[in-house]
Amino acid sequence: MAEQGIYEDLRKAIKRAGGALPAIGIDELYALLKELFTPEEAALLISMPNALITAKDHAATLGRAPDEIEAMMEAMTNKGLLHAGKNAEGIYEYIPIPLLPGIYEMQFYRGTKTERDYRLARLFKDYLDTLQKLRESLPTPPPLPETSYFRVLPVEKEVSSAMTVLPYAQLSKYVEQTSAIAVGTCYCRHHAILIDERDNCGVSHSNCMAFGAGAIFAAERNMGRLISKEEALKILAEAEEEGLVHCTANTSEELIFICNCCSCHCGILRQAKWVPDSWRVLTSGYHAEIDDTLCSGCEVCLDRCPVSAIKVTDTANVDTMRCIGCGLCVDTCPTEAIRLVLRAEAPAPPRRMGHLERAVKKP
Ligand code: SF4
Ligand code: SF4
Repeated sequence: MAEQGIYEDLRKAIKRAGGALPAIGIDELYALLKELFTPEEAALLISMPNALITAKDHAATLGRAPDEIEAMMEAMTNKGLLHAGKNAEGIYEYIPIPLLPGIYEMQFYRGTKTERDYRLARLFKDYLDTLQKLRESLPTPPPLPETSYFRVLPVEKEVSSAMTVLPYAQLSKYVEQTSAIAVGTCYCRHHAILIDERDNCGVSHSNCMAFGAGAIFAAERNMGRLISKEEALKILAEAEEEGLVHCTANTSEELIFICNCCSCHCGILRQAKWVPDSWRVLTSGYHAEIDDTLCSGCEVCLDRCPVSAIKVTDTANVDTMRCIGCGLCVDTCPTEAIRLVLRAEAPAPPRRMGHLERAVKKP
């Protein structure tokens, strides 16, 4: 492997930022990082702490002109390489972000088709494909972490009929409580289109949501548009009709995004399908249960399930180890034979992103 110089230090800095996608030192990652970051941008990110900092304060630690550092941090934020938000004094603070969730999403959230977008789509694909090949070449699949990085928000009306309503399973409460919501392009489906125009599963591409400070960030940086809570609920209902799964980070108090995922393009759902116990990759805290005295064997649920957890012989059966508790099969069953029941072994999500990052880093 060629000497990677500053890009090896950049890899380590991005790894420190955490996230769900490992930053491992292979040629495909260095090629991607070289497209994303100029050497000057790489050096600046390496010098930053893994915490919010103003351009002025960071310039002071480097002994450089504040205007110069601010201009670089702004340019990097607009390129989706840093996150920025205003502090109580209205001054921007900046922080490094992980590869995913973070840099990956920010590249494709605008839904643009520039020459750079096409190059990045190819480089991300090369890296993701190589990681998957490495995983598949292992004699046994790598163990899944005790705390998953993502979770599912189930179809809410199906949760309200369950015996126990988990407080973190009520999608509408998060919509009600957040200060702002933005919607942008589904980065996974857009990524696929950038690789191959024909790779389009036909569902909506404009339903990926950021919440709270993330929504303000997306709108300010021209990545998404702010929407009302009514429009957000309408988009979520349409996503359910299209058979899309509401995925989010595995946190209970702080909800920063909701993706509306198809199993053909979402990397998380694809990983869930790849392992036998899909619920350990992501779960809503519920699983489906079928009353076979009511089931007519019509197979509607078979097509609805995003992780192939249902088999139908005379009647339908759910593999509860595969079921992620999305509820999509429940609301389309013509005989009301399916309901969601609590998955007793599922741990409650960590409260906030910081707690989640610490939980997933546990050995
Ligand atoms: S949709 Fe309902 S009735 Fe049809 S196979 Fe599935 S569980 Fe049975
Ligand atoms: S069986 Fe499939 S569609 Fe039904 S809740 Fe489980 S994962 Fe969702």
